[in-house]
Amino acid sequence: MKVLISADMEGTAGVVVWEQVIPPDLAKRPAPAEYEWARNLMVAEVNAAIRGAKAAGATEIIVNESHDGMRNLRPGDLDPDAWLISGSRKRLGMMCGIDHSVDAVIFTGYHARAGTPNGVLAHTWTDWVRDVRFGDTPVGEYGLNAAVAGHFGVPVVMVAGDEMAVRQTQELLGDEVVGVIVKYGLGRTAARHMHPERACAAIMEGAQEGLRRKDRIRPYVPKYPLPVTVTLDTAEAVDLALLVPGTERAGDTSLRYVAENGEELMLRWQLIIAAASGAVR
Ligand SMILES: [Zn+2]
Repeated sequence: MKVLISADMEGTAGVVVWEQVIPPDLAKRPAPAEYEWARNLMVAEVNAAIRGAKAAGATEIIVNESHDGMRNLRPGDLDPDAWLISGSRKRLGMMCGIDHSVDAVIFTGYHARAGTPNGVLAHTWTDWVRDVRFGDTPVGEYGLNAAVAGHFGVPVVMVAGDEMAVRQTQELLGDEVVGVIVKYGLGRTAARHMHPERACAAIMEGAQEGLRRKDRIRPYVPKYPLPVTVTLDTAEAVDLALLVPGTERAGDTSLRYVAENGEELMLRWQLIIAAASGAVR
């Protein structure tokens, strides 16, 4: 059994403000000291998921680093039985490593979509994306990434993160997906946390249970062709995003494209983000 773990950071127990999750070289202000312990908490949760996967019989485990810069996990800290994909600017982004040979996907450290009340550090990809919709359904990273997994026939079996991240993922993908809530948001930058050791124990159990259920959990395949509507912060960002072929303006600060499948959905999304980032100062 081959398992892909998409590891984000904002949904880690104990993490609550941006200063804790911004790599020093990307920080606008002097390097935040808390980042170092926060990355330790992140890798501990990833290792817990790996232990759970091994206990469930996984024979190949790939961790795709999915947080800002995508090199927050120190390779030597990772469970030696797992492979690590790190670095950004990679095809399919947070789902790099997915293909038809993968049996199940696990999300760790996930957060709620942009604009979610009580979603700890809630956002979608960057801080200048306001909203993403599949048809009328609002989605976050969990939805974009699950659609990529679904394209390859792979189910997402477990999600770990804050309460709202878990709820939104289960709302979209179904309650069979195991949800491990490691903290409860009290706002965007405040939370009530589970102790990291307990969070890791719960993640290990959740990963194991999710993989036990993998044959019952359907891969997420929304109805294609799928209209995807993206709202950004500024009209100027949309001007640049409209350079991507197949896009059209859907409003002052929004654009739309029609995805034919989950892989194309993601590649076009990555292109839109790359183009629109030219408007960010
Ligand atoms: Zn994220």
